[in-house]
Amino acid sequence: MSNELTSSLRSEYVQHQHSPARFANIVLEKYFDGSPPEFPINIFELLRDFGVFYEFRELDRLEGAYSPESDENPAAILVNIKRPFQRQRFTCAHELGHHLKDYNSSVLCPFNSNDPIERYADNFAGELLMPTYYFREEAEKLMDDSEKVDPEEAFKLCHIFGTSYTAVIWKLYRLGFLSFVPDKKFFRNAKASQKLGQVKDIEFLSNIIDNYEYFPQDKNSPLWLHFQHELVFHDNRIEGVEVDFKETAEVLTDLRIFGQESEYYKEFAQGQRFEVIGHSYIYEYIMEAIQYPDRVGILHLNKTLFSLSPFVEQMGRFRQVENRIQGALIPTTHPRLIEQEIYFLCKDIEALYASKNTLSISGYLSKAVAIHHRFTQIHPFEDGNGRVARAVLNWLLKLKDLPPVYIAYEDKKEYVDVLTEADKFNYKQLEAFFLKRLLYSFIQINNEFSLLLEDEYSNII
Ligand SMILES: [Zn+2]
Repeated sequence: MSNELTSSLRSEYVQHQHSPARFANIVLEKYFDGSPPEFPINIFELLRDFGVFYEFRELDRLEGAYSPESDENPAAILVNIKRPFQRQRFTCAHELGHHLKDYNSSVLCPFNSNDPIERYADNFAGELLMPTYYFREEAEKLMDDSEKVDPEEAFKLCHIFGTSYTAVIWKLYRLGFLSFVPDKKFFRNAKASQKLGQVKDIEFLSNIIDNYEYFPQDKNSPLWLHFQHELVFHDNRIEGVEVDFKETAEVLTDLRIFGQESEYYKEFAQGQRFEVIGHSYIYEYIMEAIQYPDRVGILHLNKTLFSLSPFVEQMGRFRQVENRIQGALIPTTHPRLIEQEIYFLCKDIEALYASKNTLSISGYLSKAVAIHHRFTQIHPFEDGNGRVARAVLNWLLKLKDLPPVYIAYEDKKEYVDVLTEADKFNYKQLEAFFLKRLLYSFIQINNEFSLLLEDEYSNII
């Protein structure tokens, strides 16, 4: 569908040289096959359907960039991840404009450009995300007796269209729905409404993740190995294991080459840092796993984590004593009930595995995260609960061909906070937290692809 639609829209533009607004509406009409569009426009789905790959990068002077398809590469865009979510959505719509109109060469999209090509793409994007016909219809529902819209109500339109408060206000003004001219002072005073109008992280992130083209890496690829080192380093660091990143990378590389003959193996096995080695074993195990985690698999993870521990005999079984997580709202499961709770947890895992092909990535992640949270509450082991809980989550991700996620040491507080919120049955923040981590893993592991794009733009990024 993508190629056909792309070429028919491209020739439509060439023939008629439509205005940006008209062209955006033609794109929507054709894409939605004459039916009313679904709002907010899922711009990431549109990009995917039009055959455009997207990548996020931290850019200093650009909102984004467009690179046309070539013999070797598909069409691709870069989006500045440092900008607010609404702006990133707008940039994607803007780049789609380039893909349909300016597809003969690469385009760079600097901040606040007055270039006519950029202005066209901006106007196209504004109309694509907030088509005037539908915008007017929604704005009329908010009108007061004088047929104007109270700017304090305008944030509702931000939610409908997924656009920024500023963009909504200007559009209301242009269509005659405001009784005043918005100026700087107005926007300064409208902070509360602006805040209310922010796109919800979770919806935005789900759209990105569900349409992302992720390329799994070979387990020996340098990017994958680097990622694995980061994961082991951070995952241990948040548990207080003191081995820095450089050392972690050295240990893991040495182990991979020399196995138990490695100098580090001997050194670490005797010291307090054997967990780093055990941790890397866990991930080797998970990355080969085909079956879903069950009771035996969970016990195996714990035993593997401590496989070089002098107390290995006591590992790999559920705890016999009561235990409390520091700062947690609710007590962990009583030792006598652990078997039963793990049994139910494994039933949930089994059900999730059974539905893995029908769930979207974000839908799957949401259920996997709930299992992760439940695991932290049961806290079945005397030691290593956090790392095993995250390993179970990563195991579940692997079964859906997704990369593992890890929590950087700097994010530990946020992680604890969102787990605590989940204890109060509020899972949304925990979900958003892991959606971000998954996106970060995508970006890190697909770096090679970004580097291709970066080569092209190396002089300006
Ligand atoms: Zn541009």
